[in-house]
Amino acid sequence: MAETRTPIISFRNFSFQYRAQKQPTLHDINLDIYPGERVLVAGPSGSGKSTLARVITLLERPDDGSGSLFGKEILGLPRRQRKDVYSNIQMVFQMPLESFDPSYTLGASIAEVARSFGATRAEAKEQALEKLQLVGLDESFYQRFPSQVSGGQCQRAALARALTVDPSVLICDEVTSALDVSTQAHIVSLIERLKGKVSIVFITHDL
Ligand code: ADP
Ligand code: MG
Repeated sequence: MAETRTPIISFRNFSFQYRAQKQPTLHDINLDIYPGERVLVAGPSGSGKSTLARVITLLERPDDGSGSLFGKEILGLPRRQRKDVYSNIQMVFQMPLESFDPSYTLGASIAEVARSFGATRAEAKEQALEKLQLVGLDESFYQRFPSQVSGGQCQRAALARALTVDPSVLICDEVTSALDVSTQAHIVSLIERLKGKVSIVFITHDL
C-alpha cells in the first residue's frame, strides 16, 4: 500500500560542505521524519551528525537538494518567515551547562523561549513550570541558576526548554555524552516516555 501520511519534515538529495573543508561533510542525504516516529542517527565522531542536525534546523543551508516542513518548502525561506520551522523543530545539545545563559535562572531561560513565540509573561511562566514538571523538576528549579544544578538536572531543563513550544520534532544531539551512566539512563527513559507526542531524532556515536 502506498504511504499516505505526510512526513513532518522531508529532505531530498542534499549535500553540505563547510568552506574550510576539501570535500562535502554530507553527501546526497535523504531524510523523512513522520509523526510520532523515532529516528536513530549513529556514526563515529566527525562523521557529520551534528552538521546534519544543523541543516535540518536551518542553522546551515545545504548546497543543493530540497527540504520541506509539512509539505511546504523551507530552504529558501527568509529568516523572519521561519517561525514555523523553529517552533516545530527543536534541538537539545550535548553540553547542558553551555546551552544555558549562566546569568539567567533556568525558569527565565525557558520562559524567554515561550515569550519569543508570543506568550504573555504569565503564560510563559506557566508553560515553563509545566514543562519543568514534565521532565521531573519541581518548581524550585525555576529559580535556580544553571550552576546550581547537576548535569543531569540541567539536561532535563534543556529538554523542558526544547519542549516549551510543543515541537513536532525533537532532535537530541549526543544528549547523554556529558552525563554519568546512571543519569544517562534516566534521560533516555525520559525521552522514551515522550514517544507519541513528538517525533524524536536521537543522535549518538554510542549504540
Ligand atoms: P559529528 O557530530 O558526527 O561528530 P560534525 O558534524 O560535528 O560531526 O563534524 C563533521 C565534520 O565537519 C568534521 O570533520 C568537523 O571537523 C567538520 N566541521 C564541523 N563544524 C565545522 C565548521 N564550522 N567549519 C569547518 N568544518 C567543520
Ligand atoms: Mg556532534
